[in-house]
Amino acid sequence: MSSSENPMAYLLEFGLRKVERERPELSSDGQYQALKDQLMRDADGHFQEIQATYATVLKTRCTCGGQLEPKDHEFGRAGDTIYDSVIAKCKACGSAQEFQFPKDGFISEARSAMALRDYLKQSYGIDYADIIMGELQARQHGA
Ligand SMILES: [Zn+2]
Repeated sequence: MSSSENPMAYLLEFGLRKVERERPELSSDGQYQALKDQLMRDADGHFQEIQATYATVLKTRCTCGGQLEPKDHEFGRAGDTIYDSVIAKCKACGSAQEFQFPKDGFISEARSAMALRDYLKQSYGIDYADIIMGELQARQHGA
C-alpha cells in the first residue's frame, strides 16, 4: 500500500524527508534506515488493520436490518488498557454499535516510532515528532 493512501505514513515520510534534508549524513546511516523501514512497515500494518475494521463495519447489519455507517472514533485509556474503537450508527434506526480496532498494529507502530525518535534524539539531537507537529500547525494556520 502506498503512502498516498495512508495519511499517517504520508506524514511520517514527509517529516523524515525534512530531517534527511537537514542532515544528509542520515542517508548513509544504516541503523537509521533500518528503524525507518521498520516504522514504515508497522505504519502500513496498522493502517491495514484500520481499513479491515472499517470494512467489517460496512459489512455488518444492524439488528433492524439497516446499514451501519462509521460515525466516530474513540481512543483513550481506561486504567492499563488502551482502547481504540469506531462507533457506527445505523442509517435506518440510528442505534449505535461499537467496533474494537485490533491493538497489535497500533502498538507496533507506536513502539517503532518511539525507537526511531529516541535514536534521532540521542545520535543527532533531532526530534522528528516536533518537526511533524510544527508542520501540521503551520498548515492549520494557512502558512
Ligand atoms: Zn437499525
